[in-house]
Amino acid sequence: MVISFSFSGNVAGQSPQRQAYNKGKYRLLPPCPVTCRKACHKMFTQDHREIINDNYWCLSFGERRIWLDGHILIKPVIARAQAALDHMRSHTLIYHLTKEDGSKITVCKKMFLHTLGLKTDGTVTEFVKSKLGNTSSLTETSDKRGKAEPRNKSDWEKIRAPYQWIPPTSKPLHS
Ligand SMILES: [Zn+2]
Repeated sequence: MVISFSFSGNVAGQSPQRQAYNKGKYRLLPPCPVTCRKACHKMFTQDHREIINDNYWCLSFGERRIWLDGHILIKPVIARAQAALDHMRSHTLIYHLTKEDGSKITVCKKMFLHTLGLKTDGTVTEFVKSKLGNTSSLTETSDKRGKAEPRNKSDWEKIRAPYQWIPPTSKPLHS
């Protein structure tokens, strides 16, 4: 049996079939209700929302991430460490859509998701998680490196040096 791999398609981008599939799956959903405090429906015509949806689903996965990055503002509310302790949300999300003239308008979450044809906020949650995850690990690493750790660590190593044969976490054998 011969197994063959096809590399003819654009691996990083999206095949036309995939695009057609996405467009069918993520059709434009109704705008937010007219009672919305941001009055999003006044800013965006159905036609223009259709264009935004279309453009978005023509993008590759990576490009969609970049698009989300340009349209969702993650605004910190309180320090992340404190938020984790208090089991609170440390950030609030501000959604934008681009008008015909290129200006970015703040819209409500429902308008944002529905324009992209998303029924749930799973995609956004995923995006925010990966974004915050990356930033926090970078910050933590650079903080430690920039501050006391190297000196403390070498001091610690000096102290420990003669006893290094003891595995760091092991308890004494006879206790
Ligand atoms: Zn709205």
